[in-house]
Amino acid sequence: MSEKTKKKGKSKGKGLLESRVREEIRALSAYSVPRYETRIRLDGNESPFSLPPEVAEDVLSGLRGIGVNRYPDPEAAELRGLISMINGFPQGGILLGNGSDELIGMLITAFSGGTGRILYPTPTFSMYGISGLALGRRVIEAELDRNFDLDMDRITSLIAKKDPDLIFLASPNNPTGNAYSAGRIEEIIGMSKGVVVVDEAYSDFSGHTFLPLIRKYGNLVILRTLSKVGFAGLRLGILYSGEDLVHEINKVRYPYNINSYTQAAAGVVLRNREFVTENIQLIVRERKRVYGALSGMTGVEAYPSDANFILFKVGDADSVFKALVGRDVLIRNFDRPGRLANCMRVTIGTPSENDFFLNALGDVLSS
Ligand code: PMP
Repeated sequence: MSEKTKKKGKSKGKGLLESRVREEIRALSAYSVPRYETRIRLDGNESPFSLPPEVAEDVLSGLRGIGVNRYPDPEAAELRGLISMINGFPQGGILLGNGSDELIGMLITAFSGGTGRILYPTPTFSMYGISGLALGRRVIEAELDRNFDLDMDRITSLIAKKDPDLIFLASPNNPTGNAYSAGRIEEIIGMSKGVVVVDEAYSDFSGHTFLPLIRKYGNLVILRTLSKVGFAGLRLGILYSGEDLVHEINKVRYPYNINSYTQAAAGVVLRNREFVTENIQLIVRERKRVYGALSGMTGVEAYPSDANFILFKVGDADSVFKALVGRDVLIRNFDRPGRLANCMRVTIGTPSENDFFLNALGDVLSS
């Protein structure tokens, strides 16, 4: 390539991004998870428990029969049938995603025909905003109240004024950990003319679900995921709603979005789900213990949690984060201006991982 064409090509590349990538996307930061090689990893809200050996064997023999040269079942009918049976929910009201992240994108794509606005309380899961902006929607953020519950005055006036196509309510919320008051959520569903999504990614740890309300409210969508209860690597999100809404959302789903291995493995796991329930119970017991220990530490303010993680505030989150990494423990540093200043989030692990974390934090704070 001549010097001249090289130069031309380079300046064309730069101009390309500026002229062809929308400003909202250039202004975004990619969803990124910093990687640290620590022995104890309590940063991702994953389950610390993998498959019991006998279930792992069943999964492997299920995978052996898969013809990987063929596309997967485009409708994932068998898996959706199983989920329908387990939850007593019509199969036609169930849609699967490559993680609930994909379902969030599908919802934003499908429901944009009114005002083009989406609303969510903050602080919350970042993908509502990232996907909303990436897909060209206007996002409206409504700060949570001082207890991290829904601020009804603020939200109801925004709904009345802005009439969003979509509202996302993560309950229990990430990163705050609390479930919103059920009555407030229902009031929002009842007053919204658009679609209300209750993201129940962590509801297995709160024991509360809005699933039965789908029959009552035609504008309600529930999102769930297998990621937090032991299967983050499978990438399986589940959407529940009325059949008419699912019919529309299904039109913007990419074909074959759930790969053959995930369909097969998730089927085995769900058929053997007793171990999943036991693990959830253990995590909930551990959450109570870790919350008690954190609350008793000087220099720590821990927030009550209904999820598999706890948000807490320290004097200087950056230095605590670094010192914990130095002690082989990774948690999430959420320090940012505003409500989350000096806040950190720890995922509940096995009892020994939790002890290791609590001892390390105790050491760091007293040194
Ligand atoms: N919703 C909430 C509230 C979350 O915290 C997460 C994971 N961080 C997700 C959805 C996405 O989960 P996944 O794509 O793994 O199903």
